[in-house]
Amino acid sequence: PLTVLTTADVTAWIRRADELISDHADELTALDAAIGDADHGANMKRGLAAAVEALAAQPETPAAVLKKTAMALISKVGGAAGPLYGTFFLRMSTACAGKESIDAAALAEAVGAGIGGIVQRGNAEAGDKTMIDAWNPALEALRAGAAAPGSALAAAVDAAAAAADAGRAATEPMLAKKGRASYLGERSIGHIDPGASSTALIVLALADVVS
Ligand code: ADP
Ligand code: MG
Ligand code: MG
Repeated sequence: PLTVLTTADVTAWIRRADELISDHADELTALDAAIGDADHGANMKRGLAAAVEALAAQPETPAAVLKKTAMALISKVGGAAGPLYGTFFLRMSTACAGKESIDAAALAEAVGAGIGGIVQRGNAEAGDKTMIDAWNPALEALRAGAAAPGSALAAAVDAAAAAADAGRAATEPMLAKKGRASYLGERSIGHIDPGASSTALIVLALADVVS
């Protein structure tokens, strides 16, 4: 297991996220068909593919990889999720500026900054049935892992992936308060949020890379 993330590891994360999103694109779209406009899988697949393509230029630092990813997502995903994920990776990039590698504490800090960007743009709170409901528990697990004796990166990221997945599942009974799903009111209840699902896959991709 890795103890820090280098430029190559961050690149591997985005590549793995592209694979997982691509493998689950139909599932993400089906979730969005139930409470949105049935494009989340296609949107994310297009965006991650563009990010992987941009990384062929071999950016030289973790921050540069994250910034290229952000730009690709902003220009290719569209909808609500594009600017939100784009902001997430852009803020992560800024938080990693000047670092050759990212340890558990730096990762928790960068993910916290990323989530701050999503909230600043989208104003979602915990329980609004959005990607925030997967990101928040992931961050909590990362922070706990970074604070634990030894602050092992792999254990922290594994816990974050499990927490994001539990957060994804926990969106099912929620009433959507943000985004397209909120137009459905009570009818949004009983469906898992597509954005929380793509977030769980993105965190799982990182766990696959560090383990
Ligand atoms: P669109 O709704 O424009 O078609 P997508 O289908 O790609 O965009 O993304 C929908 C997802 O975006 C939702 O499932 C939700 O997780 C997320 N989302 C929407 N609005 C917000 C918001 N204000 N804050 C956080 N996440 C949001
Ligand atoms: Mg949609
Ligand atoms: Mg749309």
